[in-house]
Amino acid sequence: MTDGARLATQPGVRLREAATHCPYCALQCGMVLRETAGRVEVAPRDFPTNRGGLCQKGWTAAELLDHPERLTTPLLRDRPGGELRPASWDEALDRVAGGLRAIQERHGPDAVAVFGGGGLTNEKAYALGKFARVALRTRHIDYNGRWCMSSAAAAGLRAFGVDRGLPFPLADLGRADTLLLVGANPAETMPPLMRHLADQRERGGRLIVVDPRLTATARQADLHLQPLPGTDLAVANALLHIALTEGWLDRAYVADRTTGFDEVRRTVAGCWPAEAERLSGVPVADLEATARALATVDRAVILTARGAEQHAKGVDTVTAFINLALALGLPGRPGSGYGCLTGQGNGQGGREHGQKADQLPGYRRIDDPAAREHVAGVWGVDPAALPGPGVPAYQLLDSLGTPHGPRVLLVFGSNPVVSAPRAARVESRLRDLDLLVVADFLRSETADLADVVLPVAQWAEEDGTMTNLEGRVLRRRALREPPPGVRTDLAVLAALATRLDAPGAFPTDPAAVFAELRRASAGGPADYAGVSWDRIDADTGVFWPCPDEDGPDTPRLFTDRFPTPEGRARFRAVTHRPAAEPVCADYPLHLTTGRVLAHYQSGAQTRRVAALRRAAPGGFVELHPDLAGRLGVAEGEEVRVVSRRGELRAPARLSPAIRPDTVFAPFHWPGAARANTVTNDAVDPVSGMPEFKICAVRVEKA
Ligand code: SF4
Repeated sequence: MTDGARLATQPGVRLREAATHCPYCALQCGMVLRETAGRVEVAPRDFPTNRGGLCQKGWTAAELLDHPERLTTPLLRDRPGGELRPASWDEALDRVAGGLRAIQERHGPDAVAVFGGGGLTNEKAYALGKFARVALRTRHIDYNGRWCMSSAAAAGLRAFGVDRGLPFPLADLGRADTLLLVGANPAETMPPLMRHLADQRERGGRLIVVDPRLTATARQADLHLQPLPGTDLAVANALLHIALTEGWLDRAYVADRTTGFDEVRRTVAGCWPAEAERLSGVPVADLEATARALATVDRAVILTARGAEQHAKGVDTVTAFINLALALGLPGRPGSGYGCLTGQGNGQGGREHGQKADQLPGYRRIDDPAAREHVAGVWGVDPAALPGPGVPAYQLLDSLGTPHGPRVLLVFGSNPVVSAPRAARVESRLRDLDLLVVADFLRSETADLADVVLPVAQWAEEDGTMTNLEGRVLRRRALREPPPGVRTDLAVLAALATRLDAPGAFPTDPAAVFAELRRASAGGPADYAGVSWDRIDADTGVFWPCPDEDGPDTPRLFTDRFPTPEGRARFRAVTHRPAAEPVCADYPLHLTTGRVLAHYQSGAQTRRVAALRRAAPGGFVELHPDLAGRLGVAEGEEVRVVSRRGELRAPARLSPAIRPDTVFAPFHWPGAARANTVTNDAVDPVSGMPEFKICAVRVEKA
């Protein structure tokens, strides 16, 4: 019996039950797990985010707990090219620790790297960051969240002084008179969120969606803007241009609560709507209608997601929408504001507690002397012993096995062989390593390449906390113990730390880790000092910052000041620039990538769930019937999508929902249908976000 589970008794039946949250996306829908006679069932729970709803992924999440492909013993590869074989934990951990020691003795601490995931609990993300800095003394740690919301995070930090995806509760969406969704498709990625949009519609609110595809969300909109991928920044600047021309600037707000507007005003003065139409294809009349809908109502919300953010200019694109929101006086007003829809389950918490290359717990900067001193004090080490900042995820992976790059990689909760941009190159870098270690509960495509695979616990087998897209800290509760042979990530890190004679303590109890995280985050931007598990249990979570256990939490940020040194939000002038890879005669089409309803991220989990596999059995390439006609491609016929980096092969799916100059491929599948074989590894210079959402391709019949 674990801490989080409750044992109930019905006549003749032993029933275990845990109120927890879905293991997948950042909506973190509330659910109840019930185990009767070894069988686990999922039921939705009425929680403020999902309000009793779950999507198909959530309903079927428990299927993986007893999945026949579940890893329950460590695996070792004795020689390159050999097969993985079962091994004992001692043998596996000795091999990892021995490899780490040998490489570091020869090449120094930075010859070892750690790669984490946005699905890890706060406790695990924190412990992983501490392990990298204290036990391995390496600067090289980053995680797959870099590819999720890092552009919005960087833009938020730059403008508001803090990065919290939604600076207000999700329920505010239902109160908005106008809601502008940019590059977001929650009807497929997080369907229960649509309940809040339904509220908004029932109240007479308007929904406007900006997306190159007529998605399931866009179909519900009052207005759909269908720009060419990579032109959202031009659209945002044109909207601001119109707002200023029409006299819709909130002068008092701009004067009292912001800095830097004059330069933005000068910049957008030249961003003519007609030019935005030429670049994006969005008619001027639609731009004007959108600006009017945002500027002439009491409450308006602008949300961005991956469609706007996963570009080599993602930070500036988000900044352009923040400029628009600030000019209209939206941030900090109830029912109004700017926010980012975070994607991964703990995409928010995972970026706050130290698994990002430049961060320490509490969203502190690792190059800040005061932050280093505080965190080193909690960890019981000399601040001077902490390494400096590392490099962003793609740069890290691209350096593996090269003469000056790391020679060992430890991967926790990530599958970069499928999810990294230019994935074939990343795969080749992983093969060049001296030692690749993967901790996972299923054999992912990355685990297939590993020298050591460590079987770890799943979400329903350990306690912890997650921080959802609203910045609300939630309790993940264990229903049962991990199966025999399986250890938790915390236990793995502790065992390795012991073998490496690491200073400080590496507790295996998540409650103890969370208590330490609270102290480490105290005084930082993401302050969890006042967040206790009891307090989370007593309410529907706790919103950070929450510095005092007896004081309030912060559901809504920016109500009277922004957490910048001057207390004001910062405008920043940004201008449109083309995609990193323009189309040309050889590659005349744009490829954009994304998700489908039934699958999550690299699909390592959801591809193994029978119902989800039936719903979406494999990759496809969506193309407009006009384009298909020109290419002579019929529905279901296999096509090749070729870029400068490689090709993907998948059946054609013809749809008028996409622009004729653009094709779409979902990124959940490995092998021939791997979309990321084709994607561009150009990255945003500020956030390190790769340009997943647009590259130049040609499409041919296979
Ligand atoms: S995948 Fe997301 S939307 Fe679906 S049930 Fe899980 S948390 Fe909710």
